[in-house]
Amino acid sequence: MSNITVCARFRPLSSRERRDYGDSICIQRIDDETFSLKDEKEGDFKFTFDRVFYETSEQVDVYTFLARPIVRDAMKGINGTIITYGQTGAGKTYSMEGVNILDCDEQKKGLLSRVIDGFFEDISSSGESIKYTIKLSMVEIYMGKVRYNQQNPPSKILRGLYFLLQGSGFENPSKDLFDLSKDNIQIKESKSEGILLYGVTKIPLLDPAEALQKLSHGLDNRAVGETQMNMGSSRSHSLYIFTIQQEMNKDIRGKYGKLILVDLAGSEKLEKTGAEGRAFEEAKTINKSLSALGNVVCALTCGPTGRGNHIPYRDSKLTRILQDALGGNSRTALLCCCSPSPSNAAETLSTLRFGARAK
Ligand code: ADP
Ligand code: MG
Repeated sequence: MSNITVCARFRPLSSRERRDYGDSICIQRIDDETFSLKDEKEGDFKFTFDRVFYETSEQVDVYTFLARPIVRDAMKGINGTIITYGQTGAGKTYSMEGVNILDCDEQKKGLLSRVIDGFFEDISSSGESIKYTIKLSMVEIYMGKVRYNQQNPPSKILRGLYFLLQGSGFENPSKDLFDLSKDNIQIKESKSEGILLYGVTKIPLLDPAEALQKLSHGLDNRAVGETQMNMGSSRSHSLYIFTIQQEMNKDIRGKYGKLILVDLAGSEKLEKTGAEGRAFEEAKTINKSLSALGNVVCALTCGPTGRGNHIPYRDSKLTRILQDALGGNSRTALLCCCSPSPSNAAETLSTLRFGARAK
Protein backbone atom coordinates (compact mmCIF):
# COMPACT_ATOMS: atom_id res chain seq x y z
CA MET A 1 0.00 0.00 0.00
CA SER A 2 1.23 3.44 -0.82
CA ASN A 3 2.00 5.87 1.99
CA ILE A 4 0.99 8.76 -0.22
CA THR A 5 -2.60 9.95 -0.43
CA VAL A 6 -3.32 12.23 -3.36
CA CYS A 7 -6.54 14.24 -3.53
CA ALA A 8 -7.85 16.99 -5.76
CA ARG A 9 -9.97 19.87 -4.55
CA PHE A 10 -11.99 22.28 -6.68
CA ARG A 11 -12.99 25.55 -5.13
CA PRO A 12 -16.25 27.23 -6.20
CA LEU A 13 -16.01 29.62 -9.17
CA SER A 14 -14.87 33.05 -8.03
CA SER A 15 -17.15 36.02 -8.71
CA ARG A 16 -14.61 37.24 -11.25
CA GLU A 17 -14.55 33.93 -13.11
CA ARG A 18 -18.34 33.95 -13.06
CA ARG A 19 -18.48 37.48 -14.38
CA ASP A 20 -15.97 36.87 -17.18
CA TYR A 21 -16.80 33.32 -18.19
CA GLY A 22 -20.26 32.58 -16.87
CA ASP A 23 -21.19 29.47 -14.94
CA SER A 24 -19.38 26.95 -17.09
CA ILE A 25 -16.77 24.72 -15.52
CA CYS A 26 -14.05 22.62 -17.10
CA ILE A 27 -14.56 19.47 -15.05
CA GLN A 28 -17.22 16.83 -14.85
CA ARG A 29 -17.72 14.63 -11.82
CA ILE A 30 -17.81 10.91 -12.44
CA ASP A 31 -17.66 9.75 -8.82
CA ASP A 32 -15.83 10.52 -5.58
CA GLU A 33 -12.52 9.44 -7.08
CA THR A 34 -12.80 10.18 -10.77
CA PHE A 35 -13.65 13.14 -13.00
CA SER A 36 -12.94 14.35 -16.48
CA LEU A 37 -11.37 17.64 -17.46
CA LYS A 38 -11.77 19.49 -20.71
CA ASP A 39 -9.02 21.76 -21.94
CA GLU A 40 -9.69 23.72 -25.14
CA LYS A 41 -6.21 23.17 -26.53
CA GLU A 42 -5.21 19.79 -25.15
CA GLY A 43 -8.52 17.96 -25.15
CA ASP A 44 -10.26 15.68 -22.66
CA PHE A 45 -8.58 13.92 -19.75
CA LYS A 46 -9.75 11.56 -17.05
CA PHE A 47 -8.16 11.63 -13.61
CA THR A 48 -8.53 9.27 -10.67
CA PHE A 49 -7.30 10.19 -7.19
CA ASP A 50 -7.81 8.78 -3.70
CA ARG A 51 -10.59 11.31 -3.28
CA VAL A 52 -11.89 14.31 -5.18
CA PHE A 53 -13.39 17.21 -3.27
CA TYR A 54 -15.79 19.06 -5.52
CA GLU A 55 -16.97 22.67 -5.20
CA THR A 56 -19.51 21.92 -2.49
CA SER A 57 -17.11 19.98 -0.29
CA GLU A 58 -16.56 21.20 3.25
CA GLN A 59 -13.35 21.90 5.10
CA VAL A 60 -14.20 19.11 7.54
CA ASP A 61 -14.44 16.57 4.68
CA VAL A 62 -10.92 17.39 3.61
CA TYR A 63 -9.63 17.17 7.17
CA THR A 64 -11.38 13.91 7.98
CA PHE A 65 -10.24 12.10 4.87
CA LEU A 66 -6.79 13.47 4.37
CA ALA A 67 -5.42 14.73 7.67
CA ARG A 68 -7.08 12.95 10.58
CA PRO A 69 -5.35 9.58 10.06
CA ILE A 70 -1.98 11.31 9.71
CA VAL A 71 -2.51 13.25 12.96
CA ARG A 72 -3.32 10.00 14.74
CA ASP A 73 -0.14 8.39 13.41
CA ALA A 74 2.00 11.41 14.30
CA MET A 75 0.87 10.93 17.91
CA LYS A 76 2.29 7.39 17.69
CA GLY A 77 5.66 8.59 16.44
CA ILE A 78 5.04 8.18 12.71
CA ASN A 79 6.10 11.27 10.79
CA GLY A 80 3.80 12.88 8.27
CA THR A 81 3.50 15.64 5.70
CA ILE A 82 0.40 17.40 4.38
CA ILE A 83 0.95 19.53 1.30
CA THR A 84 -1.29 21.92 -0.61
CA TYR A 85 -0.26 22.40 -4.23
CA GLY A 86 -1.70 24.51 -7.03
CA GLN A 87 -1.70 27.82 -8.87
CA THR A 88 -2.17 31.08 -6.96
CA GLY A 89 -5.84 31.58 -6.13
CA ALA A 90 -6.69 27.88 -6.30
CA GLY A 91 -7.49 27.47 -2.60
CA LYS A 92 -4.24 26.29 -0.96
CA THR A 93 -4.30 28.80 1.89
CA TYR A 94 -8.07 28.50 2.29
CA SER A 95 -7.63 24.76 2.76
CA MET A 96 -4.70 25.21 5.13
CA GLU A 97 -5.70 28.24 7.22
CA GLY A 98 -9.38 28.71 6.56
CA VAL A 99 -10.61 32.28 6.50
CA ASN A 100 -9.27 33.71 9.72
CA ILE A 101 -7.44 31.47 12.09
CA LEU A 102 -8.80 33.07 15.27
CA ASP A 103 -12.18 34.24 14.23
CA CYS A 104 -14.09 32.19 11.73
CA ASP A 105 -17.05 29.89 11.96
CA GLU A 106 -16.52 26.22 12.66
CA GLN A 107 -17.41 25.31 9.11
CA LYS A 108 -14.64 27.38 7.54
CA LYS A 109 -11.82 26.33 9.83
CA GLY A 110 -8.85 25.08 7.84
CA LEU A 111 -6.52 22.13 8.27
CA LEU A 112 -4.16 23.91 10.66
CA SER A 113 -6.68 24.55 13.41
CA ARG A 114 -8.32 21.16 12.88
CA VAL A 115 -4.96 19.41 13.15
CA ILE A 116 -4.33 21.20 16.44
CA ASP A 117 -7.77 20.12 17.67
CA GLY A 118 -6.95 16.58 16.58
CA PHE A 119 -3.74 16.52 18.64
CA PHE A 120 -5.57 17.62 21.77
CA GLU A 121 -8.44 15.22 21.15
CA ASP A 122 -5.94 12.37 21.00
CA ILE A 123 -4.17 13.61 24.11
CA SER A 124 -7.36 13.70 26.12
CA SER A 125 -8.42 10.25 24.97
CA SER A 126 -5.00 8.74 25.65
CA GLY A 127 -5.39 8.75 29.41
CA GLU A 128 -2.80 9.72 31.96
CA SER A 129 -0.11 7.14 31.30
CA ILE A 130 1.65 9.07 28.54
CA LYS A 131 2.49 12.74 28.70
CA TYR A 132 2.69 14.50 25.34
CA THR A 133 4.44 17.73 24.45
CA ILE A 134 3.36 19.34 21.19
CA LYS A 135 5.50 22.09 19.74
CA LEU A 136 5.18 24.24 16.66
CA SER A 137 7.64 26.15 14.55
CA MET A 138 6.85 28.14 11.45
CA VAL A 139 9.24 28.99 8.66
CA GLU A 140 9.04 30.15 5.09
CA ILE A 141 11.20 29.28 2.14
CA TYR A 142 11.70 32.30 -0.07
CA MET A 143 14.15 32.50 -2.96
CA GLY A 144 15.74 29.25 -1.87
CA LYS A 145 16.39 30.44 1.69
CA VAL A 146 14.70 29.36 4.89
CA ARG A 147 13.33 32.40 6.72
CA TYR A 148 11.99 32.65 10.16
CA ASN A 149 10.38 35.41 12.17
CA GLN A 150 10.97 35.37 15.88
CA GLN A 151 7.57 34.74 17.35
CA ASN A 152 7.83 35.55 21.00
CA PRO A 153 6.49 38.97 21.96
CA PRO A 154 9.66 39.93 23.92
CA SER A 155 11.54 39.92 20.66
CA LYS A 156 9.59 42.99 19.59
CA ILE A 157 11.18 44.86 22.47
CA LEU A 158 14.56 43.50 21.52
CA ARG A 159 13.93 44.47 17.95
CA GLY A 160 13.14 48.02 19.04
CA LEU A 161 16.28 48.10 21.14
CA TYR A 162 18.29 46.85 18.20
CA PHE A 163 17.14 49.63 15.93
CA LEU A 164 17.71 52.21 18.70
CA LEU A 165 21.27 51.03 19.14
CA GLN A 166 21.81 51.12 15.43
CA GLY A 167 20.56 54.66 15.28
CA SER A 168 22.69 55.85 18.19
CA GLY A 169 26.03 55.23 16.62
CA PHE A 170 26.62 51.66 17.78
CA GLU A 171 28.53 49.93 15.03
CA ASN A 172 26.69 46.78 14.03
CA PRO A 173 24.96 45.51 17.15
CA SER A 174 25.07 41.76 16.78
CA LYS A 175 21.90 40.50 15.15
CA ASP A 176 22.19 37.13 16.82
CA LEU A 177 22.40 38.71 20.24
CA PHE A 178 19.02 40.28 19.66
CA ASP A 179 17.56 37.22 18.02
CA LEU A 180 15.90 39.06 15.20
CA SER A 181 14.12 37.32 12.41
CA LYS A 182 16.56 35.20 10.50
CA ASP A 183 16.63 34.74 6.80
CA ASN A 184 19.03 31.94 6.09
CA ILE A 185 18.33 29.17 8.56
CA GLN A 186 20.69 26.23 8.37
CA ILE A 187 19.32 22.71 8.13
CA LYS A 188 20.98 20.13 10.39
CA GLU A 189 20.38 16.52 11.25
CA SER A 190 20.28 15.03 14.74
CA LYS A 191 20.03 11.43 15.87
CA SER A 192 17.03 11.90 18.15
CA GLU A 193 15.02 14.48 16.23
CA GLY A 194 16.03 13.99 12.61
CA ILE A 195 16.08 17.10 10.43
CA LEU A 196 16.47 20.26 12.51
CA LEU A 197 16.21 23.94 11.68
CA TYR A 198 19.06 25.58 13.49
CA GLY A 199 18.04 28.48 15.71
CA VAL A 200 14.31 28.21 15.07
CA THR A 201 12.19 28.36 18.21
CA LYS A 202 9.76 25.54 18.86
CA ILE A 203 6.76 26.95 20.66
CA PRO A 204 5.09 24.59 23.12
CA LEU A 205 1.33 24.36 22.54
CA LEU A 206 -0.54 23.96 25.81
CA ASP A 207 -4.19 23.85 24.79
CA PRO A 208 -6.15 24.39 21.55
CA ALA A 209 -7.16 28.00 22.23
CA GLU A 210 -3.69 29.05 23.28
CA ALA A 211 -2.20 27.17 20.35
CA LEU A 212 -4.36 29.14 17.92
CA GLN A 213 -3.24 32.41 19.52
CA LYS A 214 0.37 31.43 18.96
CA LEU A 215 -0.32 30.30 15.44
CA SER A 216 -2.14 33.52 14.65
CA HIS A 217 0.72 35.54 16.11
CA GLY A 218 3.13 33.65 13.89
CA LEU A 219 0.97 34.28 10.83
CA ASP A 220 0.90 38.00 11.61
CA ASN A 221 4.65 38.07 11.95
CA ARG A 222 4.95 36.37 8.62
CA ALA A 223 2.79 39.02 6.97
CA VAL A 224 5.05 41.75 8.36
CA GLY A 225 8.07 40.00 6.95
CA GLU A 226 6.38 39.82 3.60
CA THR A 227 5.50 43.45 3.20
CA GLN A 228 9.00 44.38 4.30
CA MET A 229 10.36 42.21 1.55
CA ASN A 230 7.70 43.37 -0.84
CA MET A 231 6.45 39.96 -1.75
CA GLY A 232 3.11 38.22 -1.71
CA SER A 233 2.61 35.04 0.26
CA SER A 234 2.09 33.18 -2.99
CA ARG A 235 5.80 33.51 -3.74
CA SER A 236 7.03 31.60 -0.72
CA HIS A 237 6.44 28.15 0.75
CA SER A 238 4.99 28.27 4.28
CA LEU A 239 5.90 25.39 6.56
CA TYR A 240 4.19 24.56 9.87
CA ILE A 241 6.24 22.01 11.74
CA PHE A 242 4.57 20.21 14.66
CA THR A 243 6.64 17.92 16.85
CA ILE A 244 5.06 15.47 19.25
CA GLN A 245 7.18 14.14 22.08
CA GLN A 246 5.90 11.34 24.27
CA GLU A 247 7.29 11.17 27.75
CA MET A 248 6.91 7.74 29.30
CA ASN A 249 8.99 7.87 32.45
CA LYS A 250 12.53 8.64 33.54
CA ASP A 251 14.01 5.48 32.05
CA ILE A 252 12.22 5.07 28.77
CA ARG A 253 12.44 7.76 26.14
CA GLY A 254 9.04 8.06 24.52
CA LYS A 255 8.41 8.20 20.81
CA TYR A 256 8.96 11.35 18.80
CA GLY A 257 6.77 12.25 15.86
CA LYS A 258 6.74 15.12 13.43
CA LEU A 259 3.94 16.46 11.26
CA ILE A 260 4.69 19.14 8.69
CA LEU A 261 1.99 21.13 6.92
CA VAL A 262 3.15 22.86 3.76
CA ASP A 263 1.31 25.66 1.95
CA LEU A 264 3.34 25.76 -1.25
CA ALA A 265 4.09 28.78 -3.41
CA GLY A 266 1.86 29.13 -6.48
CA SER A 267 2.73 26.62 -9.19
CA GLU A 268 1.67 28.81 -12.14
CA LYS A 269 3.95 28.84 -15.12
CA LEU A 270 6.45 31.52 -15.83
CA GLU A 271 5.23 32.69 -19.24
CA LYS A 272 1.78 33.54 -18.03
CA THR A 273 2.96 35.77 -15.21
CA GLY A 274 5.01 37.87 -17.64
CA ALA A 275 7.62 38.02 -14.96
CA GLU A 276 10.65 40.29 -15.03
CA GLY A 277 13.52 40.98 -12.68
CA ARG A 278 12.88 39.81 -9.15
CA ALA A 279 9.56 38.22 -10.05
CA PHE A 280 11.36 36.21 -12.69
CA GLU A 281 13.98 35.04 -10.19
CA GLU A 282 11.21 34.15 -7.73
CA ALA A 283 9.37 32.12 -10.34
CA LYS A 284 12.54 30.31 -11.30
CA THR A 285 13.38 29.27 -7.73
CA ILE A 286 9.78 28.22 -7.07
CA ASN A 287 9.80 26.14 -10.21
CA LYS A 288 13.01 24.47 -9.17
CA SER A 289 11.79 23.56 -5.70
CA LEU A 290 8.41 22.33 -6.93
CA SER A 291 10.02 20.09 -9.50
CA ALA A 292 12.45 18.85 -6.82
CA LEU A 293 9.40 17.97 -4.71
CA GLY A 294 7.77 16.22 -7.65
CA ASN A 295 10.95 14.23 -8.29
CA VAL A 296 11.26 13.15 -4.65
CA VAL A 297 7.63 12.08 -4.42
CA CYS A 298 7.89 10.27 -7.74
CA ALA A 299 11.11 8.50 -6.71
CA LEU A 300 9.34 7.39 -3.52
CA THR A 301 6.26 6.02 -5.25
CA CYS A 302 7.80 4.72 -8.44
CA GLY A 303 10.35 2.59 -6.60
CA PRO A 304 13.90 1.98 -7.83
CA THR A 305 14.73 3.66 -11.13
CA GLY A 306 17.81 3.94 -13.28
CA ARG A 307 19.41 5.87 -10.44
CA GLY A 308 18.88 2.97 -8.05
CA ASN A 309 17.23 3.79 -4.76
CA HIS A 310 18.47 7.35 -4.70
CA ILE A 311 15.89 9.86 -3.48
CA PRO A 312 17.05 13.38 -4.42
CA TYR A 313 16.15 15.10 -1.13
CA ARG A 314 19.15 17.39 -1.33
CA ASP A 315 18.05 19.04 -4.56
CA SER A 316 16.13 21.75 -2.69
CA LYS A 317 15.72 23.22 0.80
CA LEU A 318 12.08 22.21 0.69
CA THR A 319 12.71 18.51 0.11
CA ARG A 320 15.64 18.55 2.54
CA ILE A 321 13.41 19.86 5.36
CA LEU A 322 10.76 17.31 4.47
CA GLN A 323 13.28 14.47 4.22
CA ASP A 324 12.31 12.58 7.36
CA ALA A 325 8.61 13.34 7.06
CA LEU A 326 8.38 12.20 3.44
CA GLY A 327 9.19 8.60 2.54
CA GLY A 328 10.30 5.75 4.75
CA ASN A 329 7.55 4.88 7.19
CA SER A 330 6.09 8.36 7.11
CA ARG A 331 2.76 9.30 5.63
CA THR A 332 2.12 11.96 3.05
CA ALA A 333 -1.01 13.66 1.81
CA LEU A 334 -1.03 15.89 -1.23
CA LEU A 335 -4.00 18.15 -1.88
CA CYS A 336 -4.04 19.44 -5.46
CA CYS A 337 -6.02 22.67 -5.34
CA CYS A 338 -7.71 23.77 -8.56
CA SER A 339 -9.98 26.34 -10.07
CA PRO A 340 -12.93 24.79 -11.94
CA SER A 341 -13.02 27.64 -14.45
CA PRO A 342 -12.35 26.90 -18.15
CA SER A 343 -10.11 29.97 -18.13
CA ASN A 344 -7.74 28.15 -15.76
CA ALA A 345 -7.98 24.73 -17.40
CA ALA A 346 -4.36 24.69 -18.56
CA GLU A 347 -3.03 25.39 -15.05
CA THR A 348 -5.52 22.94 -13.57
CA LEU A 349 -4.31 20.28 -15.98
CA SER A 350 -0.72 20.89 -14.96
CA THR A 351 -1.66 20.72 -11.24
CA LEU A 352 -3.51 17.45 -11.77
CA ARG A 353 -0.58 16.01 -13.70
CA PHE A 354 1.66 16.81 -10.77
CA GLY A 355 -0.77 14.91 -8.52
CA ALA A 356 -1.05 11.99 -10.91
CA ARG A 357 2.73 11.66 -11.02
CA ALA A 358 2.81 11.33 -7.24
CA LYS A 359 0.58 8.25 -7.25
P1 ADP B 1 -4.10 30.22 -2.86
O1 ADP B 1 -3.62 30.14 -1.45
O2 ADP B 1 -4.03 28.89 -3.56
O3 ADP B 1 -3.42 31.29 -3.64
P2 ADP B 1 -6.57 31.04 -1.64
O4 ADP B 1 -6.70 29.94 -0.66
O5 ADP B 1 -6.06 32.33 -1.13
O6 ADP B 1 -5.65 30.59 -2.86
O7 ADP B 1 -7.97 31.19 -2.36
C1 ADP B 1 -8.28 32.25 -3.26
C2 ADP B 1 -9.67 32.78 -2.94
O8 ADP B 1 -10.65 31.77 -3.11
C3 ADP B 1 -9.81 33.24 -1.50
O9 ADP B 1 -10.61 34.39 -1.49
C4 ADP B 1 -10.49 32.09 -0.81
O10 ADP B 1 -11.24 32.50 0.31
C5 ADP B 1 -11.36 31.52 -1.91
N1 ADP B 1 -11.55 30.06 -1.76
C6 ADP B 1 -10.60 29.15 -2.00
N2 ADP B 1 -11.08 27.89 -1.80
C7 ADP B 1 -12.36 28.04 -1.42
C8 ADP B 1 -13.41 27.11 -1.07
N3 ADP B 1 -13.21 25.77 -1.07
N4 ADP B 1 -14.60 27.61 -0.73
C9 ADP B 1 -14.81 28.95 -0.73
N5 ADP B 1 -13.88 29.87 -1.04
C10 ADP B 1 -12.66 29.43 -1.40
MG1 MG C 1 -2.02 31.23 -0.58
